[in-house]
Amino acid sequence: PGQATAERVRQALHAVGALLEGAEDELGRLDAIAGDGDHGRGMTRGSAAAVTAADESAGQGVGPAAVLVAAGDAWAAKAGGTSGVLWGAALRSFGDLLPEDREVAAGDLVAGAAAALAAVQRLGRAEVGDKTLVDAFVPFVEELRSGVDGGAGGAQAWDRAAKAATSAAERTAELRPRTGRARPLAERSVGTPDPGATSLAMVLTEVGEVLGQ
Ligand code: ADP
Ligand code: MG
Ligand code: MG
Repeated sequence: PGQATAERVRQALHAVGALLEGAEDELGRLDAIAGDGDHGRGMTRGSAAAVTAADESAGQGVGPAAVLVAAGDAWAAKAGGTSGVLWGAALRSFGDLLPEDREVAAGDLVAGAAAALAAVQRLGRAEVGDKTLVDAFVPFVEELRSGVDGGAGGAQAWDRAAKAATSAAERTAELRPRTGRARPLAERSVGTPDPGATSLAMVLTEVGEVLGQ
């Protein structure tokens, strides 16, 4: 089971890499409104490095946890910026919670996502309402958990949770940034959604597509 799941993880990372390459300009424009405009570039660089690392480790026949941990380390090393550090830690923490010796169950997805969110908040110290990717991540984990607790399969619960993350990311447009590089120009950012919350919701939606296949 480990090999097959590792292959799914690798596929998901490839899909995410392609998605972010296509979204690079849009994410850069969002970040340029009150930040420094490099969010698209950082996400593209980070995910490309993660894909390369995943391909290398999958070639060595390791399980899904090791693939995701290698991908996270590469993402953090290559992306640059605040989001790169957070994304690297999130992927690594998710990977640490995946079983190597049995199929991934829906409950493992909840545990992985919760661990990833915890790592992001431990490092970045952002709370809901600060206008960061945490604003999309918290509702994602809550919806994923309640779906799985309610008996939904992993793919179905993930899909619903990704929709919750997307709405939450859109609603960050109303907020003023209370942390990060966009804070000094906080007023200028009102009316525009947070770039990191937007890219997180896009990635979660894409992963949901791969899980549903
Ligand atoms: P940088 O701000 O270093 O240029 P990016 O542009 O790649 O990095 O990422 C910006 C995004 O990072 C923001 O839109 C926000 O979602 C996220 N972010 C910034 N600071 C934090 C934080 N402390 N916790 C969580 N996310 C954060
Ligand atoms: Mg930036
Ligand atoms: Mg930057």
